[in-house]
Parts: sequence; structure tokens; C-alpha cells
Amino acid sequence: MPKTAVPVFTKPFVLYQSALLNTYTERVIHGFTGKPITLGGQVCPPEQARANRELVCKHTGLSVNRLTLPRQTHTDQFRLNDLPCDRETDAVILTETGVAAMVQVADCVPIILYAPDRHVGAVIHAGWRGTAQSITAKVAQTLMNQHQASPERLLAVIGPSIGGCCYEVSAEVAEQVSQTIPQAAASLYTSLSVNNKPKIDLKQVNTLQLQALGVTQIDILPACTLCETERLWSHRRGEAGRQVALLELKPL
Ligand SMILES: [Zn+2]
Repeated sequence: MPKTAVPVFTKPFVLYQSALLNTYTERVIHGFTGKPITLGGQVCPPEQARANRELVCKHTGLSVNRLTLPRQTHTDQFRLNDLPCDRETDAVILTETGVAAMVQVADCVPIILYAPDRHVGAVIHAGWRGTAQSITAKVAQTLMNQHQASPERLLAVIGPSIGGCCYEVSAEVAEQVSQTIPQAAASLYTSLSVNNKPKIDLKQVNTLQLQALGVTQIDILPACTLCETERLWSHRRGEAGRQVALLELKPL
């Protein structure tokens, strides 16, 4: 697949936020970045990615000196308050204040969880492989079982990713993803493309995984990375840029 050039940062970047989580701005910093900056990717020089991360920290108030940016490998693995950067994991659970966590995406689903009753949270990278391994459900369950977060109060934000409008997949992928939510009717998250191939709504699949655990407060940001050509990076569009989901707990 052809890779487009990585643009140089010239102006403030797109930042999506959740109205649900914005009711807790005194407790958490959160958001989902977009173009024109890139926070990683294979063709992005490390020094440029670092400079762009510093820029994001400056504009959002994240702790630039305590930043964790995992090396993601499409697994169901997660770590706790992980420092430093570049260790393999696909989600970071935060229980400490002042640690800034980012996960990179460019079509995969970025998810932020926050439990206001326990002041713990998580950022998750859930592509189809992570979704098929129920990474979101596993992280949410860990917040509940090990950190006493109640499902009723847990807030979940499903960030910009490739949408059900555009995400055509193989029958095998559709099958693997479906197995994580056997209780749900397939019509809730699948449709057929014009080519008669399955299309999957990964945001909806992750939502259904959370709902199966009793989570009800779920904010789904509708933006699709493939439709939003001006605002978001898309791997399927052949772009090499990466956006991030970011989260930091503030001291109470
Ligand atoms: Zn779309």
C-alpha cells in the first residue's frame, strides 16, 4: 500500500473530546488527537514524533516528563502506570496521578475508561485483533475486580476510528470478532458492503462488550477515520500518520 508523506506540523491540531468526560475536567485530561500532526508511524522520524508529542502535552496540559507511549502489538496485554515509553502493551491502566498515557491509532479503535468513584482509568488500542481478544472487556473487568470500580459509574469513551460505514473485512475476521459478543444480534454491528462482503462496526462491538459487563455510560464519538479525510489519519487510506488517545489523572 502506498504511503503518503508525513506533514510537518504548522498549526494547532484537531482534538476530539467527550462531553461525558468533560464533566470531569478537574479530575482528568483526555482527548483524541487528529491532523495535521503525527505522533508516530513507521516513516515519522523519532525526533519529529517526540516534538509533536511535546506539542500535544503543551496544549493539553499533559505531563511531558512522565509520558508513556507503548509499543503496540495488537494483543490483549495491558500494563499499570507503565513507564518509560516503548514497552510492548496495547493498553495502559492508570492508578497514579501525573502519568500521561497515549495509545496510537490510525483506524483501530481508541478507548478511554474512567472510574470517577475510584479515580482510576485506562487507554486502550483495540483494532480487530484486540477486539477479537476482548481487550476492552478485560481492561474494564480489571478496573472492576482489582480496583473496585463499579460498572454503573464507569465512563467509557469510544474514540474516532474506522466506522461501520467503511470497515469491510473478511468473513473470518467478522466471525472472530462476533465470538466476543455471542449475546448480541449480528445486525447490531454488521452489514453488507456493495461487494457483498461483511462490514463491521468495531465501535459497536466494543460497546457491546462493555454493556455485557454492566457498563451503561458509554460515549461513542461518531467520527470515522476513512470518511474524515481532512481531520484524521487512516491506514486504509494509505497514510502513515498516527493520532493518539490520551489520558492523565489529575491529583484530587
Ligand atoms: Zn466511514
